[in-house]
Amino acid sequence: MKTSLATGWIALLLTGAALAEPAASPVGTLPMLQRMNAQFVPVSLTGDVRALADNERHALARIIEAAQIMDGLFLRQVSAANPTLLLELAKDMSPLGRARFEAFIIHKGPWSRLEHNTPFIPGVGAEPVAGDFYPAGSTKVEVERWFKSLPEPQRKVATGFYTTVRRTPEGGFIAVPYSIEYQGQLAAAARLLREAAALTSQPTLRKFLGLRADAFLSNDYYASDVAWMELDSSIEPTIGAYEVYEDEWFNAKAAFQGSISLRDAEESRKLEKFSGLLQDLESHLPIDAKLRNPKIGALAPISVVNLIYSSGDANRGVQTAAFNLPNDERITQAKGAKRVMLKNMQEAKFRHVLLPIAQVVLSPADRRNVAFDTFFTHILMHELVHGLGPHDIQVQGRATTVRQELQASSSAMEEAKADVAGLWAMQYLIDKGVIGKEAERTMYTTYLASMFRSIRFGLTEAHGLGVALQLNTFLDSGAVTVSREGLFAVVPAKFRESVTTLSRDLMVIQAAGDRAKAEALLARMGVIRPEVQRALDRLKRVPVDIRPGFPTAEQLVRESGSAAAPSTTPR
Ligand code: ZN
Repeated sequence: MKTSLATGWIALLLTGAALAEPAASPVGTLPMLQRMNAQFVPVSLTGDVRALADNERHALARIIEAAQIMDGLFLRQVSAANPTLLLELAKDMSPLGRARFEAFIIHKGPWSRLEHNTPFIPGVGAEPVAGDFYPAGSTKVEVERWFKSLPEPQRKVATGFYTTVRRTPEGGFIAVPYSIEYQGQLAAAARLLREAAALTSQPTLRKFLGLRADAFLSNDYYASDVAWMELDSSIEPTIGAYEVYEDEWFNAKAAFQGSISLRDAEESRKLEKFSGLLQDLESHLPIDAKLRNPKIGALAPISVVNLIYSSGDANRGVQTAAFNLPNDERITQAKGAKRVMLKNMQEAKFRHVLLPIAQVVLSPADRRNVAFDTFFTHILMHELVHGLGPHDIQVQGRATTVRQELQASSSAMEEAKADVAGLWAMQYLIDKGVIGKEAERTMYTTYLASMFRSIRFGLTEAHGLGVALQLNTFLDSGAVTVSREGLFAVVPAKFRESVTTLSRDLMVIQAAGDRAKAEALLARMGVIRPEVQRALDRLKRVPVDIRPGFPTAEQLVRESGSAAAPSTTPR
């Protein structure tokens, strides 16, 4: 009996596998690739370089050329087979070949970053989960055992951001600095950054470029990371090895990227104005006066920019609209991290993803009330509001932090707080006359549409979970209604009230460090209800994201190619 049950169970599994096969097998068919590629709308991202002096434009062209090198390095880091495969794909001019090439460029390899890294080109095998950071054929267990066998200083290097692990001729392991592993490309990039440093007349930019060029050769990135935090220049380059997501074994190894942008003067002014009002906002938070902070700390730097070129890890699959760097804890503990917000990227996503979402999920009357201006202001407020409210708290006389007390629930709670108290702060600044009254008409509806964008990818991540909690709260309070056709609408007066109540509820739980309450709230409200699921199902045809093109950067490099560059005085 037992045997037959087990056999039946195995048979069922096998049948399941056999049945699942056909669904997975259209790997690489033209219609499938076309569908995949259509999920990313091509959009040109540009910047206004007319305001830049000649020497700055030439410097910028050199920086973009250095960033182009990061693209090739990243491809290698994702998979050792990538460069050869790319060359092969580039030669195939058939429609299938073109579609494969396009998909490869979007996903930076032959595995779909939207579909759990499923291969879309036949014969490439499974995605290497730890990239090319560790030797081919090695296992996580082996490498980990080696890490543990090393004395502390060597272990630090071996597990550090900027080394690969390779095999010695004797079959053991050795840590190889990036400056040696990628020597040729990094030397070329360093040369370009030095040329740019010699061209620019902006001191903080010159300092960063020179130090980053040094880092590419010395493998010591610390001084250049500090210089990046202190950038105060019209050109904002983020170039080097930063994020560790490609290393799915240990999240230890940094991937190369280039994210080259121009500072947005108007938004920077707006930000400055809001930053000056942070204490005022804190002192009026809708919580008990004794929970407010009478003297909030210094604000971590925020930079609003327009992206004109991105490469490598900064340009793959779903595009980054904002990032916090560096990841080096020696710097973040002393200075915090800098937040860089890519305004034109946000705008492209707004136009090509959020507006189509609004068309599908909102009532016809509400669709008119969706505006980029309030969308972006709310993103700024979200960032600023992270710095407000309870963080360092007392629990039964013990000094602790919200993060420590709420543990796994802390991120979703904090993201929900930043969203909803961000709306509260916007309303407060409208009432005060700091933000124009017209924002009142669009802010809640725009936010409603953007909530659908956030929960579209599921609730596994803190942001999506926090948004589900908010949407359900708004539905329960009557701030958001659903028509019989399944269209969503805002009830402005109730929305405003619901925002204040939820801001208070979340911050009270945070102030108390009440993990049980946070967990219960997220379990009850951090779910996708049937009416929301039906709306999400209707969004299948709306693009997932954009794929950026960079005409400004191309033109800059064309007009100021390395060969055409003016001779620079040696420093
Ligand atoms: Zn946030």
